[in-house]
Amino acid sequence: MSENNQKRLATFRDMEFEEDVPEIPLEVRDVLNPVRLTEEDSFPFRCHPDVSCFTECCKNIDIVLTPYDILRIRRRLGIPADEFLYNFSRPATLAKGQLPVAMMQMDPENGHCPFVTEQGCTIYEDRPVNCRYYPIGLALMKREQAEDEEQFFFLIEEPFCKGHCSSKQWTVGEWRRDQGTDGYDELNKEWMEMVLKRRSAGDMVSTSPQLSEFFYMATAQPEEFRRFIFSSSFLKRYTVDKATEKRIMESDEEMIVFSFKWLKSVLFGDAFVLPKPEAVQEVVKRQESRRKELLAMKEQETIEERKRMHDAESDSD
Ligand code: SF4
Ligand code: SF4
Repeated sequence: MSENNQKRLATFRDMEFEEDVPEIPLEVRDVLNPVRLTEEDSFPFRCHPDVSCFTECCKNIDIVLTPYDILRIRRRLGIPADEFLYNFSRPATLAKGQLPVAMMQMDPENGHCPFVTEQGCTIYEDRPVNCRYYPIGLALMKREQAEDEEQFFFLIEEPFCKGHCSSKQWTVGEWRRDQGTDGYDELNKEWMEMVLKRRSAGDMVSTSPQLSEFFYMATAQPEEFRRFIFSSSFLKRYTVDKATEKRIMESDEEMIVFSFKWLKSVLFGDAFVLPKPEAVQEVVKRQESRRKELLAMKEQETIEERKRMHDAESDSD
């Protein structure tokens, strides 16, 4: 293990999540082809190692790492989540600072992705979903009043990319299949929906620091989330059937999906993971006892205030 790898990621609470990642980075906004594409629409493109711009697209880019990206890359590297996060990511936020995420850390000196070499991407089979889609962008949006999110695609035409000069045609669907985005989209779905919901909820929903921490844990450290579920009172408080318990115990993928379902239930009231009736009763009882405590304190304060006023009046007589 290298000296660098021996250092571990600081805990979530020590990290500085300063920067809000723009939905579409400024430099990309200028080169977006504004036409919305569907799965059936086609575009010309061909990328291969002999192209003069080979690996140009692997520099100075903002790559938000989705939960499945992190899982695939660190499995490939054979390292735990905290080591991956420390060495290859930087913290940032989405949805106006509400949702902490991990971004790929580019080399601060030359802006290169840590996995690019002259021969190409060294983690090609496990590259992030953003790299798989390129030069296609995937957008998810929710119209006002609409029940479900709407997904569409668009083309990114950066001037340095010679791939667009080819006559080879792809439909978006063919491109996605060729690049293997399907498994990624399925696993990242809950995560993407949560980002979108949080963004459109604006100030109507508040994300406590603890929920932000859970969101980061669910995104980047599913083992930590699992530890929390099985070592805290979580299973006493929420209805989780035995089959789900087994699945999330055995599989990181299942753990990720479950953790976002739970977060969506807590934040937006979605009915995926419900609190147990006895746990709800317990909360109601605690709130009632707290309300009585506050009432008693208030009454005591009033009595003391009256006594002070009475004493002051007696002194002045
Ligand atoms: S810039 Fe375009 S053509 Fe060149 S390597 Fe990247 S994707 Fe391929
Ligand atoms: S992960 Fe691979 S494909 Fe993606 S930017 Fe880095 S080197 Fe390029």
